[in-house]
Amino acid sequence: GILLIVANAFGISLLVHCFFFKRVPLYTEIQKGIYNREFYAEYQPIVSAQTGQWIGAELLVRWLHPKKKRVMPDEFIPAAEKSGQINEITLQLIEQAAQDKARAVLIDNPFYLSINVTASMIASPLFVGSVIELLKRYPLMQSGVVMEFSERENFSNTDVSLLQNGMQALRDHGIKWALDDFGTGYAGLSTLQALSFEIIKIDRAFVAASVTDSVTHSILGNIAQIGHTLNCQLIAEGVETQEQAQHVQSLNIQNCQGFFYARPMPFERFLAKFKIHSTP
Ligand code: C2E
Ligand code: CA
Ligand code: CA
Ligand code: CA
Repeated sequence: GILLIVANAFGISLLVHCFFFKRVPLYTEIQKGIYNREFYAEYQPIVSAQTGQWIGAELLVRWLHPKKKRVMPDEFIPAAEKSGQINEITLQLIEQAAQDKARAVLIDNPFYLSINVTASMIASPLFVGSVIELLKRYPLMQSGVVMEFSERENFSNTDVSLLQNGMQALRDHGIKWALDDFGTGYAGLSTLQALSFEIIKIDRAFVAASVTDSVTHSILGNIAQIGHTLNCQLIAEGVETQEQAQHVQSLNIQNCQGFFYARPMPFERFLAKFKIHSTP
C-alpha cells in the first residue's frame, strides 16, 4: 500500500516537473490526451448503509498519460475546468460509461452511475445539447444515470434559471441530480429548493470528524435533517471506518461511499465485485 502511494506520488511529481520545468503547457498535454482518448473513469461503489449492498457507482476520472503514469484529477481538473477542456473530457467519459453500462444490462440488480459535472457546464445550453445528443445515441443512458455537481463552486453566481433549464432539459431525458460536497459551499436553502436535487452527498469532512468531535457530530445530524426536510436521498461521502458507518446509519442517511467499503477501481473489477455485493 505505502509503496504504491509513494510510487504514485513520485510519478505525479515527475509529471508536474515536466510541465513546470520543461514548460510543456498543460493545455497542450490535455489536448493531446483528449485526442488520444487517454482519460478514463474508475468506479467507486455507492452502498446501502443498512445492508452494505452495492447500488451504484460514482465515476472518477483518471488520466493515463503516455509516460504510463496514472494522473489523478487534482492534477488536471482545475486547469481543464478553466480552459473548458473538461467539457470534451466529460463527453468522452459519458460515452465510455454508455459502453460499460451496455455490458452490465444482463445483471439482475442494475446499478446506477453518477457522473461529475460542474454547474457552469450545465448552465451552458451548448454543452447540455451535446449531452442530449449522446443520450439519444445511447438510450440505455436515459435511465439509471445521475449527474452531480459540487456546492463548492459558487453557483449562486451562475444564472440559476439557466442552471434550472439545463437540469430540466436533462431530467426530460431521465437524468437525476445530486448535489456534491454538501455543507462546504454557498448554496442557500432557497436555491436548493429551486433546483430540487433528488440526492444530496454530504461532504466527507463532516463524516470524518463526526466520531471524534462533538460539535461536528451534531452538525452532521443537522445536515442530515436538512436533507430529509428537502426530501432528498442522502449519501455520506468518505466513510472510512465501521464506527463512521454505524454513526451515519443511526442518522438515517440511506447511502454511503468511502474507503471502508471500496476504493475506486477499473470497471472490469467493479463489475465482477458488483455481482457479489449487489445482494444483501
Ligand atoms: P469528489 O467528487 O468529491 O470525489 C470523491 C473523492 O474522494 C475521490 O477522489 C475519491 O477517490 C475520494 N474518496 C472516496 N472515498 C474516500 C474515503 O473514504 N476517504 C478519502 N480520504 N477519500 C475518499 P478523486 O478520485 O481523487 O477525485 C477528486 C475530485 O476530482 C472529485 O471529488 C471531483 O471534484 C473531481 N473529479 C473527479 N472526476 C471528475 C470528473 O469526471 N469531472 C469533474 N468535473 N471532476 C471530477
Ligand atoms: Ca463527486
Ligand atoms: Ca464529493
Ligand atoms: Ca470532494
